[in-house]
Amino acid sequence: MESIVIVGAGHAGVQAAEALRVSGFKGSITLLGDETYGPYHRPPLSKAWLAGEMNSEQLVMRAPEILARKAIELRTGTAVNRIDRAAKLVKLSDGSALSYTGLVLATGATPRSLSLPGSDAQGVFTLRSRDDASAIAAHMAVCGEKQLPVIVIGGGFIGLEVAATACKKGLSVTVLEAAPRLLGRVLAPVLSEWYAQLHRGHGVRLVFDARVAAIEADVQGGISGVRMANGTLYPAGLVLVGIGVVANDQLARAAGLACDRGIVVDSCGRTNDPLIVAAGDCTVRRLTDGSLIRLESVQNANEQGKSAAATLMGIDKPFTATPWFWSDQFDRKLQMAGLSMGADQWAVRGEMAAGTFSVYHFKGGQLLAVDSVNASKDHLQARKLLEASVSPTQQQAADVSFDLTGLLSH
Ligand code: FAD
Repeated sequence: MESIVIVGAGHAGVQAAEALRVSGFKGSITLLGDETYGPYHRPPLSKAWLAGEMNSEQLVMRAPEILARKAIELRTGTAVNRIDRAAKLVKLSDGSALSYTGLVLATGATPRSLSLPGSDAQGVFTLRSRDDASAIAAHMAVCGEKQLPVIVIGGGFIGLEVAATACKKGLSVTVLEAAPRLLGRVLAPVLSEWYAQLHRGHGVRLVFDARVAAIEADVQGGISGVRMANGTLYPAGLVLVGIGVVANDQLARAAGLACDRGIVVDSCGRTNDPLIVAAGDCTVRRLTDGSLIRLESVQNANEQGKSAAATLMGIDKPFTATPWFWSDQFDRKLQMAGLSMGADQWAVRGEMAAGTFSVYHFKGGQLLAVDSVNASKDHLQARKLLEASVSPTQQQAADVSFDLTGLLSH
């Protein structure tokens, strides 16, 4: 009988498993996850879950009984330690082995850690898993009782979402960002500045061009503060390190699959082994021009999961959709459509001062991406424009009285 083994029970792994059943796969599907929980939603970990506004049931992505009904065998607390491609089996952490006729790698990513003196002190956290978020929430409660400040190292999405959540809990928060602006790799300067104002407006202190030298500990081994290269000490009860992630491609590399800061796949999730596909944060995707793209988002994980499953069924279902992403900070929802890298012109539609607007990114006059803040309608419309490769002019984009949807009917 055919048997498909999926390594990683996150967004990509679950999508792949379910897509296999939807397309009529009749063999066995085993979904292996090294965490003790069944599949859960990761994005709320820095938002509603960390804020205590969500319960454990709401965090569940797919209940084990729903998977069981689809004949998907979920094994939690089970890591794959090795892939034996010649024997077509995976070696598991309990010492057993599982053979496969098709293998899906959906192992996600691991937060980058700081390699500075004191980085392993009690009270220094990264955030990826439900356990990480629970530990951070518990430590934030102690900071609240003792009035200890929170320091966030890294002004990217996860750092800023945690900063906003900590601030909402009444904690004093400082964000230390090595670059001269927030979210510099993904947002236009005008939007970085808007986010800086949003955070400052809620009392978050922002430090740019920050050079962290060490985390200082007290006599009990708990942290006391963050020491900067210029000698400044920022007292801290909790330090959240949000400086990006590294793809979990170790298994694939050890098995001799092509990797380049992620498992290299094509738009259908194929690796260089015809029996092995990969999806989600553990991958880098080769585009038609030969370049590699790394996306870390729920949409990417879901869509790649579906493409990878189709590939194992012998069907070509390339993932070519417009990328989208969201981030919640305070009462503002950012929704991004497309990729703005390389943009040379921008237009703002709506009222930045009122916090409801969209930034349209252009390259050579062609629309590349749209970042919308509390403007869901613009976001959905942007996805349609980008899918159809229809571009408004800068003037049309900036003019709220101009109906952009009308461009789609031409
Ligand atoms: P994961 O969800 O990480 O799942 C991989 C799983 O595989 C993990 O459970 C891992 O433990 C397991 N695993 C790894 N190695 C093995 C092994 N050898 N054996 C067995 N199991 C293994 N994206 C958005 O689009 N919007 C957001 O607002 C957003 N917010 C986020 C907030 C936080 C705090 C975090 C951490 C991420 C956020 N993301 C967001 C990113 C999004 O969650 C990821 O892109 C998505 O989870 C990727 O799914 P995945 O299945 O590839 O990886």
